[in-house]
Parts: sequence; structure tokens; C-alpha cells
Amino acid sequence: MILSCPHCQAKNRVKSERFNDDPSCGSCGQPLLAGRPVALTQANFADVLAASRRPVVVDFWAAWCAPCRGFAPVFEQTAAGHPEWLFAKVDTDANPQLSQQLSIRSIPTLAVFRDGGVVDRLSGALPAAQFEQWLAAALR
Ligand SMILES: [Zn+2]
Repeated sequence: MILSCPHCQAKNRVKSERFNDDPSCGSCGQPLLAGRPVALTQANFADVLAASRRPVVVDFWAAWCAPCRGFAPVFEQTAAGHPEWLFAKVDTDANPQLSQQLSIRSIPTLAVFRDGGVVDRLSGALPAAQFEQWLAAALR
């Protein structure tokens, strides 16, 4: 699958069997799947969910959505503090088919996936403490 580096945006090819080996970016050397949310697309979403041994926490967002922009720093901060979960973002404007498939009707929508299936989801941004609580409950 092709993953964009969350640090330098370079496109990296990652094999499914190497996905859980903490791959680093071929361009800047930083970890591809830790510390910062990785951008997922229609092209790689299913492969990432199938490959990841960690639960995947996804923020469905769009550039024009003010609450999404407000929530972005909370999501990034939470991602930096929880390497045991994989944090990802899906731009719903750029990926309309995927958003439709997953019935994303409002943004931001936050969803937690484990073993390829949805564990929990909610619509609307949360303050950092409540987001942490919601994640902890979803992934208990
Ligand atoms: Zn990079």
C-alpha cells in the first residue's frame, strides 16, 4: 500500500507484512505510523485496517469545516501521547466514496476500528480530556 509520510508528505510503499514493524519514511527517516496522524484515502483505507494490529482511530474531516480545524490540534496531541493506537485522518472531500461507504453524514466524525471492524463512533469534536475518556471506553 502507498502511505504519505505525516512529516514530509513523501509517498512510501509499505508492504502489509511490514506494516506492524514500525516502518520509517524513505525520504525523511521519521516514523510513518507513530507520533502523528497518517492521512488515509480510498486507495489505502481497507488495506491499512486489515494490516494494523493496533486499533485505528480515525478523524473524518474537511478543510472547510471549522469544528474540524478546531479539533485537529486535539487529535494530534492525543496521537502523540498514544503510540499504542494508530491515528489516521480521512479528508471526506477528497474521498467521497469512502465516506459514503462508511455512512459519514456529518463532520467531524470520530471512529475507532479494531480487527477491521468499527468499535465505536461519534459525531462532533470533543475537548482533549473527553476525547481521551471516549477512546479509553471504546478500547477497554
Ligand atoms: Zn517523510
